[in-house]
Amino acid sequence: MHLVNTIEQETEQKAYGILRRFYGYNSFRPGQLETIKAVASGRDAVVLLPTGGGKSICFQIPALLNDQGVAIVISPLIALMQDQTQALVANGIPAAAIHSNQDEAYNRSVMDAAFAGKIKLLYTSPERLLLEFDRFKRLRISLFAIDEAHCISQWGHDFRPDYTQLSLIKESLPNVPVIALTATADKLTRDDIIGQLRLRNPFCLLGSFDRPNISLRAYSNPGMKPRIQFIAGLARKYPQDSGIAYSISRDGAERTCNALTALGIRAVCYHAGMSSEARSRSMRAFLEGSAQVVCATVAFGMGIDKSNIRWVVHNNMPGNIESYYQEIGRAGRDGLPAEAVLFYSYADVITQRKFAEDSGRQTLNIEKLGRMQAFAEARVCRRRILLSYFSEESTDDCGNCDICRNPPSRFDGTILAQKALSAVMRTGGTAIGVFTLINILRGIRRADIVREGYHNIRTFGVGADLKHEEWTDYIGQMIQLGVFEIAYNDSNHLRVTPFGMRILRGEEKLTLSTYVPAQPKAAKGAAKARPEAPAVSTDPVQQLFEQLKAVRTEVARRENLLPYLVFSDATLLDMARRRPSCLPEFLEVSGVGEKKAVRFGKQFIAAVRKFEGLTRTQSSGTSLRETLVLFNAGVKVAEIAEIKGIKPATVYGHVAELIKQGLITTYGSLISRKDFEDIINAYRNITDDTRQQFYDSYPKGLIGIALAIARAKGMLD
Ligand code: ADP
Ligand code: ZN
Repeated sequence: MHLVNTIEQETEQKAYGILRRFYGYNSFRPGQLETIKAVASGRDAVVLLPTGGGKSICFQIPALLNDQGVAIVISPLIALMQDQTQALVANGIPAAAIHSNQDEAYNRSVMDAAFAGKIKLLYTSPERLLLEFDRFKRLRISLFAIDEAHCISQWGHDFRPDYTQLSLIKESLPNVPVIALTATADKLTRDDIIGQLRLRNPFCLLGSFDRPNISLRAYSNPGMKPRIQFIAGLARKYPQDSGIAYSISRDGAERTCNALTALGIRAVCYHAGMSSEARSRSMRAFLEGSAQVVCATVAFGMGIDKSNIRWVVHNNMPGNIESYYQEIGRAGRDGLPAEAVLFYSYADVITQRKFAEDSGRQTLNIEKLGRMQAFAEARVCRRRILLSYFSEESTDDCGNCDICRNPPSRFDGTILAQKALSAVMRTGGTAIGVFTLINILRGIRRADIVREGYHNIRTFGVGADLKHEEWTDYIGQMIQLGVFEIAYNDSNHLRVTPFGMRILRGEEKLTLSTYVPAQPKAAKGAAKARPEAPAVSTDPVQQLFEQLKAVRTEVARRENLLPYLVFSDATLLDMARRRPSCLPEFLEVSGVGEKKAVRFGKQFIAAVRKFEGLTRTQSSGTSLRETLVLFNAGVKVAEIAEIKGIKPATVYGHVAELIKQGLITTYGSLISRKDFEDIINAYRNITDDTRQQFYDSYPKGLIGIALAIARAKGMLD
């Protein structure tokens, strides 16, 4: 036990060391460290985190913890492999890829390097791995990572037949840990991944799928013209950032692109009907930022790791919530506020229904489409619908969707829910779907109901006061709120969730939105929601942030790297807040590892210094007044510094100046009587020999304050 503990501790310490040194982060996100430790100890793992959740570190750090081995990373797309290996190399981690877009001589040299132990992470496709499995097998393999693991499952939305053969890994190398990672998995897909890869008792990291920084909105489609205006408005609202406009068809993507271009927006197109060169050109323009908007079909986006995508608009409704969620998840990966806007129409439903019917998995896909449609038409918090879809419990509204912001009228629906829950339980808990449930509640003696004897249960007819449509609506809301789940693999029957059980027992209440009969929606929702014109920021953090972005563009161009591989927006924002003025301070910035600090530090520090020099002379007047206002409001110096994003020393400087100007006359909160007297006494007795010692003995800011007070009191001249 003791020994196990110390090994674990050692792994943990090493993991932290790697995190700091190579990635520049100080702490792990929830679950990352546990996953890393599990994999490092040889256990299989499944990682389910939303896009941007931090999956990569979960296999990259175990790969680095293993001194001699190489990790094999399976990835479905060449673009993804290139992206990840570049990001790793930029952080100083030896990584490379073997794939069919490189000439074979190069692939061979990569393989040789792997055999020589010079590569820690080796990316390849499933086809390639299977084709050359005997060769790969002879490497000293630390682990296998299966990225985008949902591709293995026919239940998922992106099935790739090659993935199904990856069971070979566990069969022939049972002792090498396998870690499967994905951003999209409902319960069925998860189980499928585990089963098909033959994982043994895997460690499961099921992260929250919540992306609270993405605001959610849905409008019924107001028509092409207002919609394009709306999208152009978003592009103008975020002039420095990018956005994606998804369409159901290639033609739709092209028309959107043309219309936006006509309005002066820098837009490019991306869909499977374009040549691969044209597609790479669009992709590159978008990633580099020379194109602000990409108008695309679903062909675009898997694994896009661009941090400053501020918005995603769906011109049409996607066919299922997984796709929708993955597509909007490309926005706001830096954790900063982002917007997702869905336009839907009945025509979309018809098109998607046709896709579903031709898909070979009709029933499942039509059911999934129904859930998507319910999301689009919802009158309950949209985020709760998403979360309960991914089987995550959510008992609070999010406050960041159109429904939360502009709520429909509500009532206490606990009793309605209890009636429905009780009917489901009294029919055995898993035996009926929505339609039968409603007929039971309304007391309809259909042949099937009588045959099953449901007309004899106590809840038969308890909901006869409501119309069929009303029940449909309310049960729809209950499903969306996570009271029931639909068992797709079992005739779409209803299942009561733990949350539902608590409602049934009277331990929890449920609020529902009042039923409103369907009526044609006017387009005014979209018109009203047109984004305001962008305001030029006066916030110094924002100003510096913008300047740092410009530095990044310049650095990226010179180093021939994509901008986000230099630093992410989240990193630049932290930099703008901290204003590092030397390399050690620069290393403190979240996302700055050793390699990048050395490589790029100089340019960014220079920009910060230049900015500080400029703002000091430019805005010290207003800044001083702000400090006074905050000080008078009782805010402490450290907090003022934090609020304003400046250093405490600067705030002390302001305060000293304000004392001198006679604007601050109470000193109690600034300095203790004892410190004041000590400092002033020492100052009075200062000699050339003791001067240095004096300045080293007290915080600089405090000395400034003490002297200013003493002068204001006429104690010093
Ligand atoms: P995913 O593969 O799940 O979509 P990534 O692994 O690409 O996500 O991580 C998304 C972003 O989050 C990256 O910029 C990554 O550097 C950052 N990140 C990951 N882990 C941490 C952490 N512990 N602290 C801070 N940032 C992190
Ligand atoms: Zn909400």
